[in-house]
Amino acid sequence: MSKVNQTGGAVKPVAAESNASHFLKTIVSTDLASPEYASRQWSGAPGVCASHQQPDPARIRTRFPPEPNGYLHVGHAKSICLNFGLASEFGGICHMRFDDTNPEKESQEFADSIVDAVQWLGFSWDANNTSHLFYASNYFDTMYACAEFLIQAGYAYIDQQTAEEMRLNRGTLTEAGKNSPWRDRPVSENLRLFREMRGGQHAEGSMILRAKIDMQSPNINLRDPAIYRIRFAHHHRTGDAWCVYPMYTFAHPIEDALEKITHSICTLEFEDQRPFYDWLLQRLSETCAAVDGNTIGGFFCAPLPKQVEFARLNLTYVVTSKRKLQQLVTEGQVSGWDDPRMPTIAGLRRRGYTPEAIRLFCERIGVSKSDSWIDYSTLEGALRDDLDPKADRGIAVLRPLKLILDNVPADWSDDCSAPVHPHHPEKGVRKFPIHRELWIEADDFMQDPSKGFFRLFPGNKVRLRYGYVVECKGCDLDAAGNVLAVHAEVFLDSKSGTPGADTYKVKGNIHWVSAQAAVAAEVRLYDRLFSEANPDAGGRNFLECLNPASVEVISAMLEPGLGSVEPDARFQFERHGYFVADRRDHGVGRPIFNRITTLKDSWGKAG
Ligand code: ATP
Ligand code: MG
Repeated sequence: MSKVNQTGGAVKPVAAESNASHFLKTIVSTDLASPEYASRQWSGAPGVCASHQQPDPARIRTRFPPEPNGYLHVGHAKSICLNFGLASEFGGICHMRFDDTNPEKESQEFADSIVDAVQWLGFSWDANNTSHLFYASNYFDTMYACAEFLIQAGYAYIDQQTAEEMRLNRGTLTEAGKNSPWRDRPVSENLRLFREMRGGQHAEGSMILRAKIDMQSPNINLRDPAIYRIRFAHHHRTGDAWCVYPMYTFAHPIEDALEKITHSICTLEFEDQRPFYDWLLQRLSETCAAVDGNTIGGFFCAPLPKQVEFARLNLTYVVTSKRKLQQLVTEGQVSGWDDPRMPTIAGLRRRGYTPEAIRLFCERIGVSKSDSWIDYSTLEGALRDDLDPKADRGIAVLRPLKLILDNVPADWSDDCSAPVHPHHPEKGVRKFPIHRELWIEADDFMQDPSKGFFRLFPGNKVRLRYGYVVECKGCDLDAAGNVLAVHAEVFLDSKSGTPGADTYKVKGNIHWVSAQAAVAAEVRLYDRLFSEANPDAGGRNFLECLNPASVEVISAMLEPGLGSVEPDARFQFERHGYFVADRRDHGVGRPIFNRITTLKDSWGKAG
């Protein structure tokens, strides 16, 4: 296993980071100082320029614009924290917007899962008694009107080249493109064809609406990009009302402008699209005389939204692409979008991650303008730092081995107690009984101890945590030499917390549960889904490096009180790590816990 950068392990103080500055905050502060921003208007709902009548109560508007074509992943969490975080820090509002302009892959199930994830992370789009939940598909009429305007103003044309011809004529990075033979069609013909497209009179792929910009532009994105295409596809919200759909690069700036977004924050891949974003919104702010003589256009007014880019989150041992996550689900590599090994928000939630831990993680990784990889241990570190002060403690014996206290009668019993949380005495104590037969961890016993082993071995004394000191007397073996049970004698005057207990000096301190009182539980030990830091490096098929040992299901023995906890309850099982009662499968009489993470980062250290 190759070591990846371990910088992620470093723990920084949380409070200092919440106020950490970054380049996006600087941009927002600078913009807010300009008089243009103070003149911003808002009519109470998204709309074109003319309808804005009131000064905008939001100092800035950001948006989180997922496409409902999959479940959100940890990369989206970065964008969510950034957009909602900036809005709240600067007295603004963040819109929740479904970018649902691409009918084929979208669904209501995905949309619902997105709402769920963002709310669970702790963010809200309600402000001033209004919900700011929007759907790009509600703007199809305006988008269509914008397209007709571009045609009438001479900024768009219907191209009937084949897809192949268009590709060839687009040119390359070093070679200019060639104008389409259809580029100089009269406006009236473009308008007629576009209306026919909308009317369903032309086949998919037979023609397309393109912006008329510059086939010689060094920026390929400005070489007459496609803006509307024919798709006879059913849309999960608009049904069959449309058979033409806008391209993402055309739709997105319009959505932002209609919603009066001030800062349209996106990932670096979109940097080269910014000139088209600006070109489009400027054109749509202009007016022209329509073919019928009326003045049209003027959809938007200053200040226009501006696109700013930041580096996406790349996390080691994880894939953050909805398409690849979908593949894991459809191929049955995981049990579903919320499989606890998935880097989806639903998966992290089921695994036991808290919203606070994910937000802390997003704060720690910061925001920058250059791509980098974040080590997975940074995410786990945030979880530990969040849970350590708040997770109640409990005892779980994960690989149970019987320990018999030979010198007490079969009906012997006593009550032991331990703090619910070692640093929060106000949480009180938990009580559990001790009996003659106990479960201990199999690896807390060695018949022939290796050097430095100071737990149970014949002749050695250890303390049963929160209980008594015992001395090992031997063990029972089966014919193959496997240890079946360990025998010991208990010192009845050694009980923790009683006078004289500390006269017993022992090196080992092991955990245990009473065999009679323990609760049997299924425990799912999760590990990383991939065994390579960068699963899709160098064009490799990411499925080839799935970790074959990413889950191990075991039967464990738990402290009695853990049998009746609610789903989603989180604990630190002493010496083992953080665990959560599975939100889907755990129930009364059927305790099922997931390991969220171990106590320490041991990954990659074994070499
Ligand atoms: P995917 O490739 O997983 O489908 P996407 O960017 O196409 O991702 P969208 O639903 O369009 O998915 O994303 C919504 C928002 O989340 C966008 O603004 C996008 O920039 C942001 N986002 C997506 N992935 C990441 C990431 N890894 N890091 C930061 N932001 C991200
Ligand atoms: Mg996308």
